[in-house]
Amino acid sequence: MQSYEDLTASQTLAWALATFRDFFAIATSFQKEGMVVIDLAARISSAVRVFTLDTGRLPEETCRIMETVRTRYGITIEVVAPDREEVERMVAAHGPNLFYESIELRQMCCEIRKVRPLARKLRGFQAWATGLRREQSATRAGLPRVEQADGRIKINPLVDWTDADVDQYIRLHDVPVHPLYARGYASIGCAPCTRAVLSGDDPRSGRWWWEQNDRKECGIHFDVSLRPVRIGGSSGGR
Ligand code: SF4
Repeated sequence: MQSYEDLTASQTLAWALATFRDFFAIATSFQKEGMVVIDLAARISSAVRVFTLDTGRLPEETCRIMETVRTRYGITIEVVAPDREEVERMVAAHGPNLFYESIELRQMCCEIRKVRPLARKLRGFQAWATGLRREQSATRAGLPRVEQADGRIKINPLVDWTDADVDQYIRLHDVPVHPLYARGYASIGCAPCTRAVLSGDDPRSGRWWWEQNDRKECGIHFDVSLRPVRIGGSSGGR
């Protein structure tokens, strides 16, 4: 019997679209990989569902690429916002830029602006796809193509793609890319937590660059070892 690992990215998406239909969606932050997944899926079905997390701290350029995707592919992008009261309580207790104070507070911000909204959104789906690749970081090296996670199927169609594979696909199919790549960004998230990197640097080094640890993840794909402190509680040391 053929294993999921033997499927191509396109075959994986075709299987997911046929199997889960409206209960399948692509989650994207419009980085290169997400754009490739959208392009591949849109070639199979124009009815593919796509959603994104609007943390409230996204760079303006992310709104621009979102607009480009809407125009180019004619798909509706479902925009998922964090809980307003949770954000208000967090900002009142710790300030708008709490993420620079400690890893715990950074993880709290990611939890409230990303992890919880994602969990709420995923309740409506049986399966979802990401643009994760094994090559992106040590934390992603062991990713399967298809996995069961938190009661639903998580699909990583590009899991075995290299950087070169992604760039080649984008070139061949004229896929639009996030404007910040042209300014030296290699991995793109919220504006205050992302910066450009030098050529040859670890692509993830521009994310939370002030943190000295090798688990630079927001918690939406991988459990992070530190759990956030309570809103209004002690922030802990840097
Ligand atoms: Fe907050 Fe930064 Fe995480 Fe965005 S990336 S949710 S601004 S800590």
